[in-house]
Amino acid sequence: MTEAEVTVDAEKVRKWDRHHVWHPFTPMTSHRREDPPIITEADGFELIDTDGRRYVDGISSLWCNVHGHRVPEIDAAVRRQLDRVAHTTLLGLASDVSAELAWRLVQIVPDGLNHVFYSDSGATAVEVALKMAYQYHRQKGGRPQQRDVFLCVGQAYHGDTIGSVSVGGIDLFHRVYRDMLFPTVTVPSPVALRVPENHTSESWVQHCHDEVRRVLREYRHRAAGFILEPLVQGAAGILVHPPGYLAFVREQCTRFGIPLIADEVAVGFGRTGRLFACEHEQVCPDILCLAKGISGGYLPLAATLTTSEIHDAFLGEPHEFRTFFHGHTYTGNPLGCAAALASLDLFESRRVLENVGVLERLLSERLADLRGHSHVAEVRQKGIMVGIELVQDREALTPFPAEVRLGHQVTLAARRRGVIIRPLGDVVVLMPAPAMPAGLVERLCDVVIESIDEAIDKIVDRN
Ligand SMILES: *Cc1c(COP(=O)(O)O)cnc(C)c1O
Repeated sequence: MTEAEVTVDAEKVRKWDRHHVWHPFTPMTSHRREDPPIITEADGFELIDTDGRRYVDGISSLWCNVHGHRVPEIDAAVRRQLDRVAHTTLLGLASDVSAELAWRLVQIVPDGLNHVFYSDSGATAVEVALKMAYQYHRQKGGRPQQRDVFLCVGQAYHGDTIGSVSVGGIDLFHRVYRDMLFPTVTVPSPVALRVPENHTSESWVQHCHDEVRRVLREYRHRAAGFILEPLVQGAAGILVHPPGYLAFVREQCTRFGIPLIADEVAVGFGRTGRLFACEHEQVCPDILCLAKGISGGYLPLAATLTTSEIHDAFLGEPHEFRTFFHGHTYTGNPLGCAAALASLDLFESRRVLENVGVLERLLSERLADLRGHSHVAEVRQKGIMVGIELVQDREALTPFPAEVRLGHQVTLAARRRGVIIRPLGDVVVLMPAPAMPAGLVERLCDVVIESIDEAIDKIVDRN
């Protein structure tokens, strides 16, 4: 195969981008000022810009890349599918690749999740889960019920559509839209870095468990479902839950008859060390949301899986109108499904989960020194998801002034050293791909440590 010969006029692209592209989650004024790299190609785990500069992809292209870029096996699978058909609908028709992928997913997810509803992003996978749970109660056998409230966890992130924002709790992202959202009930997030004054870390975690029990009991007749990110709350700053919390929530949801919705959009497909985070605590949710890594990070594809119990509440003759009235144009897109099948094959043939184990230890060793750093509040890690929280004062946990944009300064320093990262506020995030070679992860760690020091030195000098 010949290399694609593409010449890119960087100046022209820059102009088009400045004038016409509105970037997501991006303060556009500073974006235009900074002229970020224009990525035109990738090679393995590196991205290449218009100047031919190479950057280690330190955040897996926003948490989705699994095996690297331009992976021969996935490229070939997508090309083969292109030679057959790029897209057909699942509304009333079937396709071979979407059926095979559904079957494969059912084999690998926790037991009992037998039905796969496709969509195309994490947010839509969550929307599907919420509407599915809501309608289930109205149609379930025995005593159908109208249930009008979702239970969720503080500082949750489930995506940016209105339903997924409703069950989210990140004030900075979600506050503006408050009046557009449906009501929810929130239990506090069981993380113990900043606890209310009357609590110790231990008593706070205990309180969070107690709140789960109290809220589930109080809302047992009104709650349509309890949604959470298992083990790690990603967008909140890689907040890692204490062991046992997930299993506890499962047990309490079962006790009070409330469906558990596990949003594994970020943690799924190997990032916590197991294929799915729920496996760590032998938990089977009633509904499971998958996206990001499902296609190896290649194409927009998502899936919401559920039990026969929930699925069967939607069965009936057409005139009974028990149908799940939901679907997206590109639902179950064959190219995405072909990429996903190839990605699952690679998990096995390249023993990707073993590599995750190696990277997990390596990250923890390489970043160990940061734990004593005078401006690091915490280094949080689960599997290969890492959050390094930077603070001005380590004892009082006071943040740096927002206008300094320290997390962003670290990103810029890393970029100058050939590494792409993206922070969550002043939490520096490392999210290497599950299949990244150890040598590149070492470089990623070294560059991040240097970049943190450089960015902090500049601020401290200035003052
Ligand atoms: C990223 C993310 C989403 C949203 O996924 P999109 O594909 O960006 O819509 C939902 N839930 C979690 C836990 C996520 O990390």
